[in-house]
Amino acid sequence: MYRFCLAGNPNSGKTTLFNGLTGSTAHVGNWPGVTVDKKEGIYRKCAEPIAIVDLPGIYSLSPYTQEEVIARNYILDEKPDCVINIIDATNLERNLYLTTQIMEIDVPVILALNMMDAVKKRGDKIDADELEKRLGLPVVEISALKGEGLDKLMERAYETCKKKREGKTVIENTALKHLIGDIKIALEGHGVKNPMFHAVKLVELDELEVLMHKETVNMVEAFKKTHNDKTFGDDFEALIADARYKYITKYFSPTLKRKNEEKFVVTPSDKADKILTHKIWGFPIFLVILFAIFHLTFSENLFFLGGVLPEGFGKLEGTLFEGVFVGDSGINSLGVMLMGVVEVLTGLVSELVGGWLSSSPEWVSGLICDGVLGGIFAILGFLPQILVLFLFFSILEDSGYMARIAFILDRALKKFGLSGRAFLPMIMGFGCSVPAMINTRTLADEKEKLATVRVIPFFSCGAKLPILTAVAGGIVSYFGVGNVDFITYGMYILGIATALIAVILMRETTLKGETPPFIMELPAYHAPQVKNLIMLLWDKAKHFIQKAFTIILASTIVIWVISHFDFSWNYLTDEQMELSILAGFGKLIQPLFTPVGFGSQLKAFGWVFAVAAITGLIAKENVVSTLGTLAACIGAAAIDVEVDGGVGAVSAMIQATGVTLPALLAFIAFNMTTIPCFAAVAAAKGEMASKSKFNWTLLFWVATSYIVSSAVYLIGTAWWTAFIYLAVLVVAFVVIKLYNKKRFAKEK
Ligand code: GDP
Ligand code: MG
Repeated sequence: MYRFCLAGNPNSGKTTLFNGLTGSTAHVGNWPGVTVDKKEGIYRKCAEPIAIVDLPGIYSLSPYTQEEVIARNYILDEKPDCVINIIDATNLERNLYLTTQIMEIDVPVILALNMMDAVKKRGDKIDADELEKRLGLPVVEISALKGEGLDKLMERAYETCKKKREGKTVIENTALKHLIGDIKIALEGHGVKNPMFHAVKLVELDELEVLMHKETVNMVEAFKKTHNDKTFGDDFEALIADARYKYITKYFSPTLKRKNEEKFVVTPSDKADKILTHKIWGFPIFLVILFAIFHLTFSENLFFLGGVLPEGFGKLEGTLFEGVFVGDSGINSLGVMLMGVVEVLTGLVSELVGGWLSSSPEWVSGLICDGVLGGIFAILGFLPQILVLFLFFSILEDSGYMARIAFILDRALKKFGLSGRAFLPMIMGFGCSVPAMINTRTLADEKEKLATVRVIPFFSCGAKLPILTAVAGGIVSYFGVGNVDFITYGMYILGIATALIAVILMRETTLKGETPPFIMELPAYHAPQVKNLIMLLWDKAKHFIQKAFTIILASTIVIWVISHFDFSWNYLTDEQMELSILAGFGKLIQPLFTPVGFGSQLKAFGWVFAVAAITGLIAKENVVSTLGTLAACIGAAAIDVEVDGGVGAVSAMIQATGVTLPALLAFIAFNMTTIPCFAAVAAAKGEMASKSKFNWTLLFWVATSYIVSSAVYLIGTAWWTAFIYLAVLVVAFVVIKLYNKKRFAKEK
């Protein structure tokens, strides 16, 4: 099977094209560096199926970042049958810089001029035929977003791949050209493949090249001396880059006719950025937007209209959907409405199954109704809210707004050794920590990468969301204080703040290092694609449901079984649960959580919180499903309430255990900042160079979760302790700064 690869600058639309060609649903993000690993798919509309590989985005083939090395090695070593060089046509010249390097390799290359829709909308024109002649490579105009020109591109690529092609360079400077020519001949003599590419890189004294061709380097140096006239400086790399740009401006730029010749037109995007990336207001605006999202997703009093609605309005009293659309406090947000609908449905299923099993042995109906259904349904109810939240996050991301947030944070935190690049994986962490951790490979600095991997779990992921909403819901319904949207929002902000403080402290102490400069180009805003959003949500829902019926299902069964048998495997009824294996284990670890409010100070069944936190290490959804499974039994046995759904489970637990409000907030904070799920731990381990770094990371997570949750607990119990925490933080920071300054002075 033929294999074509997609190579191009970050954000040029490679993944969009890849998805369009292969029908896959890889993550498209309007920011640089989303694709780190290479991905494969199959295009089926040519005479024969063709494998398509999506490479990470790169600006050049130099070995400065991991992406560049991956892409370069792929093209050189795996020898694809054709390289589809995708170009963001709205930035033609800059994108062609990479093209001038790819064309030096002996491989068929075709140019895909992407984003032609945007070029046309601007009123610009590109003479593709002329560009094709001047480049000596086929050029096809496409719009990956709109799906235009893809089949034509593949048809021409299919023709192109059948013809052998020899690398060519655009470097025209006579002396350089001779030098490269001589080295190329010498390399050919040694039987080196891709002699043109290697010759140019050797002249640049490219690190990888020098390592690979040690014996040739001396020869190159000698060549350089013989060719060296006064016009040559020492920096051959800069010389060659300059030669490429000169060629591009001279020969390729004229194929582009701009409607507005003056370069700086103020677009609506620029106008929006004046406000959204404002020095002072940019970040507060982000916090407001974030709150609006939480309000629209979790609020039970949408737009705070609760007080002005007529009595009984929209409550559908007496029907199946009573309170689903409008509740006691006001109108429900979309997430809450959908959650209500799901709970009505799961309630019906539970009732139905309960009816069927009413005559079966107690342990059968217990296991199935309380154990399995209680656990899984406690979690399933949150799926709509997860999806709604992700819909909003994806809109922010796809429109290009998230890239602005990275820009704003970069500006504010550069001084502390954090570049905007590090924020992109962090923001991805809101979805799932695993891909976010893998994405840290885009960070060039090893220490910055390590610090980033460590704090990614604090960006609360989709699986942690049920913990936040179930506990927040329990607090609101049991204590009658606060709003679910405020509490969840506050917890997200707490996570972000913890991450930023932790990363700054690490970068000032154990992980000190230079931050490579981050030049971020802000992509133009554009309306998100409905198709993209739907695919993304579909993927998320599928993944969640798969998880619910595998890991979570298995965990709930185990939890139910060990909570209904004692150590000599006698069956226990719900009332006897305190004698179970699980209770024994729970009581053993319960004291560990006393400092953070949900340990030994609780009444009977208080160990459930400790157990839930532990099951969360397998998958964070387990925290709520465990509470659901146990609440279904405890509710019936100890406090005589019928429990359904995650919120109901938490309310029942509050009643049974007497846990306090601050302790519940601490419980959320603990789960948010402690060791993440199994999959994320494995991903983190994979990104770490050594075992000891990984062990320190585990310790870091445990320590952070204790510090943060005990702070939440103490401040919640006695608000003035906030000043003590603040003072300690400030003093620590000042001491570190002073110490660093002194050490710096000494080193000088
Ligand atoms: P990658 O980083 O190269 O993989 O780029 P992505 O595929 O993630 O796309 C980057 C951004 O460009 C996304 O917001 C896409 O929606 C957008 N994009 C991709 N192709 C086109 C296109 O043909 N026209 C326009 N206007 N936008 C596009
Ligand atoms: Mg991509």
